[in-house]
Amino acid sequence: MDLTGKVAVVTGGSRGIGKAVSLRLGGLGATVVINYVSRPDAAQETADQVVKAGGKAAVYQFNVADSAAVEHAFKKILEDYGHIDILVNNAGITRDGLFMKMKEEDWDLVLDTNLKGAFNCIKAVNRPMMKQRAGSIINITSVIGFAGNAGQANYAAAKAGLVGLTRSLAKELASRNIRVNGVAPGYIDTDMTRDLADSVKEIILNEIPMKSMGSADDVAAAVAFLASDEARYITGQFIHVNGGMFMG
Ligand code: NDP
Repeated sequence: MDLTGKVAVVTGGSRGIGKAVSLRLGGLGATVVINYVSRPDAAQETADQVVKAGGKAAVYQFNVADSAAVEHAFKKILEDYGHIDILVNNAGITRDGLFMKMKEEDWDLVLDTNLKGAFNCIKAVNRPMMKQRAGSIINITSVIGFAGNAGQANYAAAKAGLVGLTRSLAKELASRNIRVNGVAPGYIDTDMTRDLADSVKEIILNEIPMKSMGSADDVAAAVAFLASDEARYITGQFIHVNGGMFMG
């Protein structure tokens, strides 16, 4: 796979899965635009690692949930680089809790970040990608968006929403040679899952046929494939990276 000459925007590229994706795409020759919201240190460290490995990277701070900030940031990215070829909608958060106790603000925050964030970023690249008649958009959904999970109604709704968004846009944009796919990670070792109680981790591991957590690199490999021309005839699809936890 060769991404030389391509510009890739990775939302939430500072840590976890987004960091692994940034390193992977940078390693394949893409110029990586690493977005973050609150951790400039982590974003800069990721960019430094991309550069150290011989790649090109820059960091851009914006909140994906803020449509005006997204529009402004993508305008600047387009001014700086001239084109965006790959968009990875990876930024995401959790605000878990049983539905009975779930506050409206926890619903809104998760939907605004995980689902509307992708809407905002796709809106910003839609026109330029249509003009260049090429593009690859990859939405990071989740096993939870397919299977559901008690205590994660907001997160599951947002991630299932991304599935519908991906499939609809794949149909809408295919004639312009813009591919829209998803990657659905299972249980991956990142900051998001590190704080789970050992008892919860054990229950999850028992549900995974491969009996282990995945790594951010496992997810990044799937993203890189979908971003590349190797996947030129693939759109509207999901790669499940979950050790057999769910077979979609
Ligand atoms: P982490 O918590 O490790 O990292 C989250 C990233 O998202 C950080 O880079 C963070 O930036 C960024 N971010 C959060 N909110 C915003 C926002 N409003 N605007 C811009 N950036 C934001 O998460 P993971 O790496 O584990 O998860 C990445 C994606 O993968 C998420 O969409 C998650 O739902 C999904 N996923 C993860 C799974 C897992 O097991 N870990 C399983 C299935 C899906 P900053 O550093 O500035 O805070």
